[in-house]
Amino acid sequence: MGADSMRRAAAVLLVILGGAALWWAGSGAQASASANDAMVATIAVARGRAASNDPRLKGASRFEEGGWIYVHLEGDPGARGYQHGYLLAPEIEDGFAAVSAGMMHSTQRDWEFFRKAAHEMLWPKIDAEYQQELQGIVEGLRTRTGSKLDVDDIVAFNAFEELPDYYLPWLNKWQKAANAPNLKSPGNCSAFVATGSWTKDGQIVMAHNNWTSYRNGERWRIVFDIAPKNGYRILMDGFPGVIASDDDFGINSDGLMVTETTITQFEGWDPNGKAEFVRARKALQYAGSIDEYARIMLDGNNGGYANDWLLGDRKTGEIAQLELGLKAHKLWRTKDGVLSGSNWARDPKVLKEDTPQFDPNNKESSPNARRARWEELLAENKGKIDVALAERMLGDHSDTAQKKEEPNERTLCGHVDGSSRGVKEWEWQAYYPGGAVQGKATDATMAKEMRFVARMGHPCGGDFLAKPFLAAHPEFAWEEPYLRDMKAGPWTEFRSGQVSKESDKN
Ligand SMILES: [Zn+2]
Repeated sequence: MGADSMRRAAAVLLVILGGAALWWAGSGAQASASANDAMVATIAVARGRAASNDPRLKGASRFEEGGWIYVHLEGDPGARGYQHGYLLAPEIEDGFAAVSAGMMHSTQRDWEFFRKAAHEMLWPKIDAEYQQELQGIVEGLRTRTGSKLDVDDIVAFNAFEELPDYYLPWLNKWQKAANAPNLKSPGNCSAFVATGSWTKDGQIVMAHNNWTSYRNGERWRIVFDIAPKNGYRILMDGFPGVIASDDDFGINSDGLMVTETTITQFEGWDPNGKAEFVRARKALQYAGSIDEYARIMLDGNNGGYANDWLLGDRKTGEIAQLELGLKAHKLWRTKDGVLSGSNWARDPKVLKEDTPQFDPNNKESSPNARRARWEELLAENKGKIDVALAERMLGDHSDTAQKKEEPNERTLCGHVDGSSRGVKEWEWQAYYPGGAVQGKATDATMAKEMRFVARMGHPCGGDFLAKPFLAAHPEFAWEEPYLRDMKAGPWTEFRSGQVSKESDKN
């Protein structure tokens, strides 16, 4: 081993030790702190010491800032996966536990059901490149923590948006399952993309806040900087252990800017299609234009996690909306306009064929009330929209149905835990602990330099505290092992190739 690789190994080890220490310190602060945590951390450090010489870790790095964990992954698919699994091992184990518990709770199916679906239905249609990356995640994870998770677990976990709420409702209907739980596709996010006369500099501005359960959302804190051997460089937010951004927000080095909001009350699944998480990751990695993006998303469309994709091409200043139903889809595009999303479909054919239960005229529903607010807010700010303004918009608390300021399920910055109504379209009962869990924004200039800003927690800066919530709402007691405080961090800028906070000062 040369001096260079020694230094590199030492640097990686330092990152690992630092990460493990922070992880331990983090768990130590909680009531659940125990000698076991300390022992696990110590074992992880020992494994890290032994494994940090692995050549697959070459070039990979990790640091934390503003409540986010930034990881740089590079190289061939197996190496990228290994780096991902290794550097984020504690977070993957923790995220897997929370997500899999939620999947089993809502569907009343055991984990073996999801493993089987992953193995038999999803895996054979995953591109070899991503099969290798997923295998790499398992290897890195096992090396670091001795995890027992295998590739079927990781594939099912990667499909956590599509298996419970798309595949299962389809399967239950097809099997005419008795007493099947009433599963609804999720409603994730508020977002917009604007260009031309709508923005301050005439170039594209894009912003997004992620709506999920706070249980999952508080863990949606990864910034992935990926330099793949093939395809374009990617900067995206994401979930530990998942290869797509999945909420979604990302930019690539060929100028594509990508986000989405989910289509409420979507119904449909094609068991012969390709998993959404694979198509979404592939499109961000390989599409250099709006047309290429649409082509990759449509190739093998399985209907899973059906979204209204909001796209921008900073090379041309053009923005687009790809409303990706299963039976129908539509693409709108413009070089002068704004496209917003808050979980509603608008194409008559998609509405009729893919979301037959959705009522676009109910002004009191979360998707429609937020749609009205986006229209109002964006029109008021026409010609002034920039990233600073976008940050404020993501934290907006204006409820158009009640015509008042009140953080609830109808505001762009969602706080469903404060609403006695919940969101029936998504089967979110009254006071459901979910809503906007983090936000991101960028513009064409920043995208060219591979930069975006991001804030963990409610984009308005409000905190969610688990203990008083659970005391007030014992109906959510099952979440207790997984539901943690979600405290807002500061708006923080991240860019490709960033090594650590300190290096910015040099
Ligand atoms: Zn808020």
